[in-house]
Amino acid sequence: MSADDARVTGAWELPEELVLLRDTVRRFMTAHVHPIESTLAHDAIGLPREQLLELQSKARELGLWALQTPEEFGGAGLSVLGQVVVAEEAAKCRMGAFFPALGAFGGNPPNVMFKASDEQFAKYAQPIIDGTMTKAYTAITEASGGSDPARAIQLRAVRDGDAYVLNGSKMWISHAPGADWGIVYARTGEGRNGISCFIVEKDTPGVSFSRIDVMASFAPYELHFADVRIPVDQLVGEEGQGFALASDFLVYGRITYAAGPIGIAQAALDLACQWAKDREVFGGKLADKQGIQWMLVDSEVDLRAARLLVYQAAWNADLGRNVRVDASIAKLNGTEAAYRVLDRCMQIHGALGLSTELPLERWFRDLRVKRLGEGATEVQREVVARQLLRPKR
Ligand SMILES: Cc1cc2nc3c(=O)[nH]c(=O)nc-3n(C[C@H](O)[C@H](O)[C@H](O)COP(=O)(O)OP(=O)(O)OC[C@H]3O[C@@H](n4cnc5c(N)ncnc54)[C@H](O)[C@@H]3O)c2cc1C
Repeated sequence: MSADDARVTGAWELPEELVLLRDTVRRFMTAHVHPIESTLAHDAIGLPREQLLELQSKARELGLWALQTPEEFGGAGLSVLGQVVVAEEAAKCRMGAFFPALGAFGGNPPNVMFKASDEQFAKYAQPIIDGTMTKAYTAITEASGGSDPARAIQLRAVRDGDAYVLNGSKMWISHAPGADWGIVYARTGEGRNGISCFIVEKDTPGVSFSRIDVMASFAPYELHFADVRIPVDQLVGEEGQGFALASDFLVYGRITYAAGPIGIAQAALDLACQWAKDREVFGGKLADKQGIQWMLVDSEVDLRAARLLVYQAAWNADLGRNVRVDASIAKLNGTEAAYRVLDRCMQIHGALGLSTELPLERWFRDLRVKRLGEGATEVQREVVARQLLRPKR
């Protein structure tokens, strides 16, 4: 392992095959993604379709496809640790928060589809793995709240003959209009066991979308359902099983979610180190000032600790252990640490840090959102607190 690798991994050695995979992703990003990004607007959140398809075909040639999809379903079946390594490396670009979501390393249906029927899988998931359908959205959150969906979900699904009729709305849903279909959680009964999971096709009569304006560069949507008839064969799992189906996957998702912000913050720290070495103040380099050195050092410490917690959670997940608490700690610490690092890196750049010439200010906004998505910081604390304070046997 080179000295550089030791810094990247926090001196914890990755298996050889994951080092090779990380290097492949790094080369792909440099050769194909960075040049395209340099032609796009600062806040772009998607690639033009033709460029995306071209990128996807190059990614597939390198085996960077369907990485999260288990082998038994025709995917690469990459370990959670491998997914973390890829997510971290792929985030080191201007669209860092979006790159994996862009689908360039696509081919992954929503995880809940691995519990779908064979017919549902063949019709909806397989085309995503084959690359003939776009990524699907997942709609859990409503205006009534996202942190506690078991209580907050109010979108109603009422059985009527061979269909369920959906009425209500979802909020803050990413990628909704561009997707060929989505996973929608709706209430079919009371309490936690009263939530069911449905596949909703694009263009289903009664479904409409409206864009919600939020901090760039995000584009979530409100989804409206007015007497929407969803055939019974688009119910995933049993009626009332929706929350149980979603829960397992939400835990794993938190681990990979935390890896992207760490990659972004690492890229920011690399820029800040270079800038500190180049910039002159008071007759010397910024890098010679202890106040700046300490900001850089604190950022390095933050990132090493955050990375190790994410890797450890992934490693435990791969061993089949219960990682509910590990995943919450990794997500909470990873996103908060990355945000702190970005703030320091912008400060070191002075006014330039706020300009759109550099990606820093965009990353800063992206990381602000990451503290809320996939279970906000406070919700992760709640999970850990429950474990810490549970009665001793
Ligand atoms: C850009 C963007 C994209 C999104 N994409 C999707 C998507 O694709 N699909 C989807 O389903 N959702 C999506 N969301 C929604 C997101 O998951 C929710 O915003 C998130 O879960 C928080 O829910 P909320 O906004 O309703 O806040 P609330 O649940 O109302 O919480 C408000 C605040 O209270 C805090 N809080 C909650 N519980 C506790 C507690 N016990 N103790 C202390 N504090 C607490 C929260 O952390 C938060 O800070 C997206 C959101 C954004 C901003």
